Amino acid sequence: MAMSRGMSRRGFVGGVAGALGAIGLTPRAEAWARRARIAGEVGALGPEDDYDAFAKLANNENPYGPSEAVTKAMMRAMKYSNRYGYPDSGLTEELAKHHGVKPENVLLAAGSGEILDICCSTFLRDGLLVGADPSYNILYSHATGLKADIVRVPLLADFRQDIPALIRATRMNYRDVGLLYLCNPNNPTGRLVTKDEVRQVLDGIPEDVPVLIDEAYHHFVDDASYATSVPYVVEGRQVIVARTFSKISGLAGMRLGYALAPRNLVQRMRPWGTGSINALVRYGGVAALRDTESQAWVKKVTIDLRTKTTRELAALGYESIPSDANFFMVNLKRPVQPVIDEFKKKGVLVGRPFPPLNEHLRVSVGTADEMTRFMVAFKDIMRAKAANDKE
Ligand code: PLP
Repeated sequence: MAMSRGMSRRGFVGGVAGALGAIGLTPRAEAWARRARIAGEVGALGPEDDYDAFAKLANNENPYGPSEAVTKAMMRAMKYSNRYGYPDSGLTEELAKHHGVKPENVLLAAGSGEILDICCSTFLRDGLLVGADPSYNILYSHATGLKADIVRVPLLADFRQDIPALIRATRMNYRDVGLLYLCNPNNPTGRLVTKDEVRQVLDGIPEDVPVLIDEAYHHFVDDASYATSVPYVVEGRQVIVARTFSKISGLAGMRLGYALAPRNLVQRMRPWGTGSINALVRYGGVAALRDTESQAWVKKVTIDLRTKTTRELAALGYESIPSDANFFMVNLKRPVQPVIDEFKKKGVLVGRPFPPLNEHLRVSVGTADEMTRFMVAFKDIMRAKAANDKE
């Protein structure tokens, strides 16, 4: 594959460290660059090098990967790679302590995607799903696979979730509703549901309706109107909170997520899980939970780069939906698919279309270097499209 913007691994790492240094994050950027260099020294995997060369802004990943402490914990656990009966890392207990719940309230899974899958299998075999549209589509795909009916509630004009309409849809279908889904902050918009709105939902629907609150992007929120819904689990409300190590902890490829829920719900959900979590990430997860310094750094650099990029786009006349996550949606004022294709030709992967938001492009926040590549490509593509429109 021909890349329009070739860059050696060393040049790439140096560029990133330099760019991060410029916003005052040198020591941690250097630690990250050091790990990237070690990965480079291990050697190329083969055709995957093409993938490495892309600016990957399509899947809301953490571009920095796991921290040094987490990487070391996983490397130490490598010795268990050939075992089934390796010692327990204590991850369940650590999570319970971290969240102030009991171990019986914790259900581990291979990514929070598996938690969503388990929720569908548990609650939608003979139940209806209620949720916003658009929202995290995988849940709706699982529900469709189970032939469950879905009530999709459109977003409001400001792209927030329509809380009164979600409550109304749940009450109107009360006998049939198996699950109400709230993605907070929502994917693909990045908009949050306030703590008052969550309370409104829980107080506004029959208390036996399970509510799945997906907090995959919890760690990126910087807004006092938001709060985690974990205290509702402690209260014993029929709430399932889904969390992941894929985003703030940079472990998407290692697959680790979990649910926090009252005991009665965990007991119903557990039989639907595979329990297949690898030895490395069981240890990496414990280290990640403890490494709050790295989490704070990822949050800061991500928000700084999101703010910088959306301001640059606004200066060009392209507004973004306010986001509380590690991605944002920019209004292109034209269909997104042809633009997505152009980005790919320039070595930049951006989000797919999310109907009915067909003119909004979802962009994950990558490294400083990746965001520069995005802006260079954006200006080129939009200039060419505008020139074409005039012809
Ligand atoms: N929930 C939301 C809202 C997501 O955006 C994602 C992934 O992007 C997931 C859940 C699943 O994440 P994972 O399975 O990697 O934990």
